Amino acid sequence: MKKEVNSELMDKIVSLCKRRGFIFPGSEIYGGLANSFDYGPLGVELKNNIKNLWWKRFVQQRDDMVGIDAALIMNTRVWQASGHLENFTDPLVECKKCHHRFRKDLVEGNKCPDCGGELTEAKQFNLMLKTFLGPVENDESIVYFRPETAQAMFVDFKNVLDTTRRKLPFGIAQIGKAFRNEITPGNFIFRTREFEQMEIEYFIKEKDWKETFEMWRKEMQSWMTDELGLKEKDIHELDVPDGERAHYSKKTIDFEYDYPFGKKELYGLAYRTDFDLKNHFKEPPYEDVEAGEKLYPHVIEPSFGVDRSVLAVLSEAYKEEEDRVVLKLKPRLAPYKVAVFPLLKNKPELVKKAQEVYHNLKKDFSVAFDDRGNIGKRYYSQDEIGTPFCVTIDFDTLENGDVTVRDRDAMKQERIKIKDLREFINGKLI
Ligand SMILES: [Zn+2]
Repeated sequence: MKKEVNSELMDKIVSLCKRRGFIFPGSEIYGGLANSFDYGPLGVELKNNIKNLWWKRFVQQRDDMVGIDAALIMNTRVWQASGHLENFTDPLVECKKCHHRFRKDLVEGNKCPDCGGELTEAKQFNLMLKTFLGPVENDESIVYFRPETAQAMFVDFKNVLDTTRRKLPFGIAQIGKAFRNEITPGNFIFRTREFEQMEIEYFIKEKDWKETFEMWRKEMQSWMTDELGLKEKDIHELDVPDGERAHYSKKTIDFEYDYPFGKKELYGLAYRTDFDLKNHFKEPPYEDVEAGEKLYPHVIEPSFGVDRSVLAVLSEAYKEEEDRVVLKLKPRLAPYKVAVFPLLKNKPELVKKAQEVYHNLKKDFSVAFDDRGNIGKRYYSQDEIGTPFCVTIDFDTLENGDVTVRDRDAMKQERIKIKDLREFINGKLI
């Protein structure tokens, strides 16, 4: 069943993101900068929750993983060795009249889509973002922002090995920004020139590649459904055929997701063979002591886009119900876990008690405080940003020490003792 493109839904998500402070157009007061976006106060919480969950699951809770955080700008020889300087290109044609440039595969016929002018032959255009390091702007000072986080894990392989004394199989993980001078960015935060990745390079012996690939396929599926809350029916695996894979990859699976603008890539899983370590190390960098041999480990690479994760999570969570808009985020991903309200703004004893509860909860959770309008409006406002629990302090609270806790999804209320609130919320943070 093919899902239809829902541009109206996409517009609503973009509008909510701006209105409630998830994601703003970048540099907006200066007219913006094409396809750049800033994560606002709620967006950064959501994004950090995804990154922290990923780091916890794939690095801290595993025995076979370590993390790094490498520099964004690396020695240009890294990109020579990896093949990016030569091969990380798109074919571009240029209009002889208006000089606009287009990706060759996206132009129909041989006329300029903007003015109808004649187009040049295709030239290879490198997608790496270039800059100068230091005070002199010449060829020697040209450097590149990394187009992927992966190369740092290969370049640092020996340092990690020497300092952690790992044995195969083991992985190196990293979360960080990467930059690509894309010709055709678009679809909100789906394709931008500056983006963030969560990547793992998992080092193995060659004979183990098939079962390791399978292990990571299951791990990635579980991450998408169990941690992000994406529905299985919206996730599709595309086994990338021969000829369309990167030349070094023997097998690649794209995980595609049904975004409101159509089925597009979310994550990738690739078997990169020993291509990368062979590029960077003249001698085999790993010694198998038991077998008494030196070898180049092979690599399985699970790659997760951070911004695409955010977009998929928002697309999945956005629901319009009879009289409310609600983000049904997994509670662990929600920017605020709980909101605290005094029933009435003009009763100092209620406000004081609510402030007290608020400050106490803030020690353990991200918490919102709201005393504007009536309770219904406050619920509506929190539903729209996905806050799983709202706590109201009323006159009974002052007598009995309990509060009303309202559940976002069930829209049911129950009375909970203030002293049990922390445990109650913790127990529901799935
Ligand atoms: Zn033109």
